[in-house]
Amino acid sequence: MFQPFLECPKCGARLGLEKVYVGAPFRCSACQVELQVSNLYAWSVCLGSILVSLPIPTAVGLRGFAFFFATVYGWIPTWLLASLVVKMVITPKIQLHRPEDPDLITLFPRR
Ligand SMILES: [Zn+2]
Repeated sequence: MFQPFLECPKCGARLGLEKVYVGAPFRCSACQVELQVSNLYAWSVCLGSILVSLPIPTAVGLRGFAFFFATVYGWIPTWLLASLVVKMVITPKIQLHRPEDPDLITLFPRR
């Protein structure tokens, strides 16, 4: 199977694809620096999975809230699958993790 060559931008160590997460930071196994895939890549996977999950509710003829919720429920498993599969096909750009802006308001707990 094709194994893309990914390396740590800090120490140059080879990164196993199974350790690379789309949409979440991860650590280099050699130097332990926190890394992430580029924001453009993560957003592209997210938006692409939304586009992929749209045809089924549209084909069934759902409208309004039913369309919205069917799209969201279809998007979640699609995004999870896409974040696992797309990195095997399109090599993500790895960069040093940039912590969020401390003034940014978020619903998710900070680490
Ligand atoms: Zn490293």
